[in-house]
Amino acid sequence: MNQPTVTSRFAPLPAACAVSSDPGEPLTKRQHSEPPHAYRAPFQRDRARIIHARAFRRLAGKTQVFTHGYSDHYRSRLTHTIEVTQLARTIAAALGLNGDLTESLALVHDIGHPPFGHAGERALDEAMQAHGLRFDHNLHALRIVTAFEQRYAAFPGLNLTLGVREGIVKHSRDYDPVEHPELAEYFLDRQPPLEAQLIDLADEIAYLTADFDDGFSSGILNLAHVRDHVALFERYYAPMAAQYQAAAPERLIDESLKRMLNAFTGDLITRSEEALAEAGIANLAQVRDAGRRLVALSSEMETLRREAKQYLSTHLYESDAVTPEHERARRIITSLYECLVRDPSLLPANCATALTVEGAPRTVADYIAGMTDPFLLAQYERYRALCDS
Ligand code: MG
Repeated sequence: MNQPTVTSRFAPLPAACAVSSDPGEPLTKRQHSEPPHAYRAPFQRDRARIIHARAFRRLAGKTQVFTHGYSDHYRSRLTHTIEVTQLARTIAAALGLNGDLTESLALVHDIGHPPFGHAGERALDEAMQAHGLRFDHNLHALRIVTAFEQRYAAFPGLNLTLGVREGIVKHSRDYDPVEHPELAEYFLDRQPPLEAQLIDLADEIAYLTADFDDGFSSGILNLAHVRDHVALFERYYAPMAAQYQAAAPERLIDESLKRMLNAFTGDLITRSEEALAEAGIANLAQVRDAGRRLVALSSEMETLRREAKQYLSTHLYESDAVTPEHERARRIITSLYECLVRDPSLLPANCATALTVEGAPRTVADYIAGMTDPFLLAQYERYRALCDS
């Protein structure tokens, strides 16, 4: 008997909506010209360059959300990045987009984040403001891949394609071309390709569901309270609890979060297909000129996403349970930053050129932003007597 054919309910978009990997595609161009590889396409080479970068390896030692009551089970920036990557690849495949470009963009999307998560980022930004500077993780990521990573004799940086660098610049925000003339090559007055657009939502969906998971594991989130206040969670938890009455709550949480993730992903794919069809989008040029991002959730799922995110903000990210950890991270980063700006001779020798060109406040920020959580703590302990004097 013939097996039934399994078909996707998702119809691929017109192929011309995807970024091409052909050598003639402008987004495959690199800052420094290199001969083509015998059997690897340009975005496949970018993927390899990102994975082999030191800044990528350091994601393993950076907090995603949790330092609270240390556990081996919490996500790090690296495991979060891997989760975003697999989700982004799934969405790209369903939509018929460029999987290699999508994967490279997902792997690099958090490479510019400082230690200790958003608390660390806020602290570093505040410390820099005293010197007239700001911390911007997209621009920091761009500097990592174009300058800080040193792996080639002929040029600094990883020499990534224009497509990946544009995606880094446009992750979760848009820059004003007038305020940022240095970013002129990244099409600031046009929309990013769909491969870059989907990363932002893959990131949102991945961390939202993962943070519920880690939040429950940590004991900070309360199951009954979440069921009462997060409609999408309860939508899946209630039927699972009725169906598996003997199951442990932890398994029902797992099942519910998987269903939430699946619901967001399916909705994202369907809604994006609809949005592209409604706008009559048939190729990349039309994606870029659409005037808005076309990869989106439906309004119902967007409302549910915002509700869930707001819940996490109040009851997890800004909760009393994590405030002491955030306060400690802020104190350590502020103290080490000020200390190294006061006495840049404490910086490693390979910062000498940057110190001359960029000055101490920027160079120290770049140095601290690159640190893992444990390395930051070790540096703080090493200079504590100086820092806190
Ligand atoms: Mg992320």
